[in-house]
Amino acid sequence: MTVVMDDIVTRESQYVLQTYRRSPVTFVRGNGVRVYDADGREYLDLLSGIGVAALGHAHPALARAVAEQAQTLIHTSNLFYHPYQGQLAERLAALSGLPRAFFCNSGTEAVEACLKFARRYWHSKGEPRAEFIALDESFHGRTFGSLSVTSDAHYREPFEPLLPTVRFVKTNDAASLLSAASRATAAIIAEPILGEGGIRPLTPAFAAAIAEACSKSGALFIADEVQSGLGRTGQPFYSRALGLQPHLISIGKALGGGVPVGAALVSQEVADQIKFGDHGSTYGGNLLACRAALCVLEELVDRGLIAQVNRVGRHFETRLRAMASKHAFVRDVRGAGLMWGVDLTREAAPVVAAGLERGVIVNRTADTVVRLLPPLVITEAEADEALGRLDAALTAFGAAA
Ligand SMILES: *Cc1c(COP(=O)(O)O)cnc(C)c1O
Repeated sequence: MTVVMDDIVTRESQYVLQTYRRSPVTFVRGNGVRVYDADGREYLDLLSGIGVAALGHAHPALARAVAEQAQTLIHTSNLFYHPYQGQLAERLAALSGLPRAFFCNSGTEAVEACLKFARRYWHSKGEPRAEFIALDESFHGRTFGSLSVTSDAHYREPFEPLLPTVRFVKTNDAASLLSAASRATAAIIAEPILGEGGIRPLTPAFAAAIAEACSKSGALFIADEVQSGLGRTGQPFYSRALGLQPHLISIGKALGGGVPVGAALVSQEVADQIKFGDHGSTYGGNLLACRAALCVLEELVDRGLIAQVNRVGRHFETRLRAMASKHAFVRDVRGAGLMWGVDLTREAAPVVAAGLERGVIVNRTADTVVRLLPPLVITEAEADEALGRLDAALTAFGAAA
C-alpha cells in the first residue's frame, strides 16, 4: 500500500463509523467505464458504484449539467417551484406509464414512499389495510419500513421489532403468494429481478400470480425497480417486460447517474388518494438532482441508450455464458441486459479481490454470486476486455481452491 493509502485508511478507521468493510483501493478519477486508483492503476468498472454510474464516469454532458446548475442555483426546497421537477416527472411518466412522481434522495426513501402511499390509499378509501406481502431473499433498503419488507435476518434482527404486518412468501412460488394475499393486503412488493438476493429474475408464471393475487384481493403492486429499472435490463422497467402493471414503482440508483436522487412513481388511482402534506422531503427533487436526472433520461431515451443496452447486453450475455461454461465451479448465470449474476458453488468473495488485482471491478452478493452491473454506456469491445480480466480472475480463483 502507498503512503497516501495508509493515511486514508488510518484516518477512516479512527473517525468514520465502521459500518462498511471496504476493499483496499482508493479511486481518484474516472473516464467512461474506466476508473483509476491513487497509484494511477486503471480498472474496468463492471459495477458502476452498485448500478449508479449509468452514464459511466465523468460523462461530459452530466458533468456540464451539474456544474452549470451548481453555478446557478442548487437548492430552494419544496416550498417553491423550480423549472425541472415537472419536466423530470413528465419524462418519467412517459417512460413508466405511471403519471405522477414523488422525489426523494435514495432507493430506500423511494420504497418508504411507496409503502406509505399504499397505506394512505386504503386509509383514504375508508377501508384501512395494514399488511404487506414481500419475497424471501428480497432487499428493499435499510430504513425501518424498507427493512421490514427485506427478508434477510442478518439485516433485520439487530433492529427488531420491525413492522409486524409483513408476510414473506417464497420467491417464484405462485401457490404461496396466492394463499397469502387477502382483503387485508395493502400491497405486494417485489423486485422484478432480485438484486442483492443474487440476481434472480421473477419467472413469468410468478409475475402472472402477482397480477392474479392483486386482482383477487384488490392489493396494490409495488415494483421495486431501484436496481432493475431505467434501462438496466435493456427495458425501461423490467416489471413491464414481465407483463406487470405496477401501481407504484420505486427508482433510485441510476436515476441521477451518481447524484443522489430517488423517486416513487404513482398511478392516478393512488395519486387521487394522496393529500397535501401526506409526505415530504427537504432535499427531494432539488434543482441539482433534477438536472442530473434529466441528463440521464436524455441519454437513455433521446440518445437511444436503452436500445444500446439491449444490443450490447446480448453480446455481454453470450460472452459471459461462454466464459462461465469453462469454469466447473460456476453453477448458474442469471440476469438480463446489463444486470448479471454468476452463481458459484462456493463463497464468491475471493473473486472480488482477484478481479481488483487484475483490473476489473465486480462485487459479491448473496454469498456465492458475482454481481455485474456495468455502466450502461459500455461498448462490446469494452465488455470483451472486462470479461477477459474477469475470466483471468475466475481462473485464479479456481486454481486457489
Ligand atoms: C439498492 C436498493 C435499494 C436501496 O437503495 P439505497 O439508495 O441504498 O437506499 C432498494 N431496493 C433495491 C431493489 C435496491 O437494489
